[in-house]
Amino acid sequence: MSPLLQAESLYRFYHAGDDETLALQGVSFGVEAGEMVAVTGPSGSGKSTLLGCLAGLDEPTAGMVSVDGQRLSRRPEAERAAIRASSIGMLFQSANLVEHLTVSENVQLAQRVAGHRDRDRTMQVIEDVGLGARAHARPSQLSGGESARAGLAVALANDPKVILADEPTGELDGVTAQRVVELLRARARAGAAVVIVTHNPAVADDADREITLADGRVRS
Ligand code: ADP
Ligand code: MG
Repeated sequence: MSPLLQAESLYRFYHAGDDETLALQGVSFGVEAGEMVAVTGPSGSGKSTLLGCLAGLDEPTAGMVSVDGQRLSRRPEAERAAIRASSIGMLFQSANLVEHLTVSENVQLAQRVAGHRDRDRTMQVIEDVGLGARAHARPSQLSGGESARAGLAVALANDPKVILADEPTGELDGVTAQRVVELLRARARAGAAVVIVTHNPAVADDADREITLADGRVRS
């Protein structure tokens, strides 16, 4: 059995004029169902590039990503989008919320993209992140901590097998950050593979495993 999320020899080079940036230089690792892995490393070490490749938002220059035994890399964007919508939840520092939709409509949008329509699940996920009372608020009416949790509700909308979070606690106060990490941990306990990019040593300590990047490589 291969891990739920697998990165195999990922390379990602960026070209701009004569400049070449070797953002990823052969990154391989697997994340099992039930595991929470922290990705750390200095700024510019390739963490966000890695997450983009794992999510299928970006295509690696070489190597491949697979999710639940399904190859995600080197497929047409529409196919990657379908796998992403049904199997992957993404959480970014700036919550991925559509401004003119309420919290509940944002969650429903993510569900519709994946072909789901389940009002009970919509409310359940909003209650799970502690936003039951704010389900009908728009993003501009939410505090920083509430937006972070709304972004988390969107990421969890389809009960994804794989959750990828890029510094989700970066701009949160300690209590909210801890709550977000606890919710991610709960998803791992329920069988998801969770990858969390973080600068926060407490979050890294909380993970089952820490993968540190330096210059686009896993530091051993
Ligand atoms: P991190 O998230 O660890 O701070 P990134 O993955 O954002 O690192 O960046 C890794 C390297 O790739 C950096 O040198 C960055 O400047 C470069 N890079 C990232 N995105 C692009 C891009 N779209 N075009 C060119 N270079 C990029
Ligand atoms: Mg980054």
